[in-house]
Amino acid sequence: MYPSRFRYEAPRSIDEAIALLQEGGGEAKVLAGGQSLVPLLKLRFAAPELLVDINGLPGLDYHRVDADGTIRIGALCRHADLERSSLLPDRQPTMAAAAPLVADPIVRNRGTLVGSLCHADPQGDWASVVTALGGHIVAQGVNGRRTIPVAQFVTGPFQNALAYDEVAVEAVIPAPKGTAAGGYLKLERRVGDFATAGTAVALEFSGLTVTRAGIALTGVGGSTINATDAAQALVGGALTAESISAAADLAGQAAQPRSDHRGSAEYKRHIVRTFVHRILTRIEQSTEKAA
Ligand SMILES: Cc1cc2nc3c(=O)[nH]c(=O)nc-3n(C[C@H](O)[C@H](O)[C@H](O)COP(=O)(O)OP(=O)(O)OC[C@H]3O[C@@H](n4cnc5c(N)ncnc54)[C@H](O)[C@@H]3O)c2cc1C
Repeated sequence: MYPSRFRYEAPRSIDEAIALLQEGGGEAKVLAGGQSLVPLLKLRFAAPELLVDINGLPGLDYHRVDADGTIRIGALCRHADLERSSLLPDRQPTMAAAAPLVADPIVRNRGTLVGSLCHADPQGDWASVVTALGGHIVAQGVNGRRTIPVAQFVTGPFQNALAYDEVAVEAVIPAPKGTAAGGYLKLERRVGDFATAGTAVALEFSGLTVTRAGIALTGVGGSTINATDAAQALVGGALTAESISAAADLAGQAAQPRSDHRGSAEYKRHIVRTFVHRILTRIEQSTEKAA
């Protein structure tokens, strides 16, 4: 099917993009990688009057690490940039683990992490990763910039907290206060598929003690699930067989899966428990080795 007719604009500055969105009055959409929006246009699930293509905006294709360890990902940083990043493997294991599991190579060449957060698909991998890491989005509008924690940014399935005339300019991952550890596991029916279930785990350690924990779940609820009880079960002690099992069980309980063509609800809950257990066990083994 062809998309409905729309006006297309390719602004050269962020201010011009914001002015165009204002002019669109809620009937305009930002186009980033187009890997979610274009299929929606073609299916006519979305029919905006105006497309504001931000691909020509200068200086948004970065991902970088500040001196204090904060990671910043610009709105035009592609999934593939993160997959090939030399910055992430040592600094941010949860992101490094997730990057190659998002979609397929063709989608990863165009799609963006920020676009994925804006799209707010319950099966989006990055929303879980950034939630587990306690990240936030920086939005820019006519009144300047504001910061929105990602757990509040995703307001429901395919809904986010942006005003109609705001552009999400970057995602920010706070600097870990201790040693960062983590992982992302995803069950997909075939390579490149959306998650049947996915789990993001992000920990910070002081010595062997877990000082911060984040666990978030992909594809097992109406939106990304922040499994805070599961994460809290880990904080304040070393990883042990008991704390790992407790966290895995609580993560399973936090999941709200539905039975569908990808599997039964109980199967997906089992995957969540198994994946959280597996990631934590790997971390426990590697921290023990390092100690
Ligand atoms: C075949 C296929 C398989 C896929 N598999 C997966 C998968 O396994 N896991 C996964 O997580 N994703 C998957 N995706 C989705 C993919 O990751 C998209 O790249 C991502 O969801 C959206 O990023 P984008 O840059 O392409 O955004 P676009 O498609 O350009 O935009 C998506 C939405 O976000 C808005 N938006 C985008 N950027 C901004 C911004 N800076 N400010 C304000 N609003 C903005 C747009 O207006 C639109 O509503 C798949 C897509 C395809 C086509």
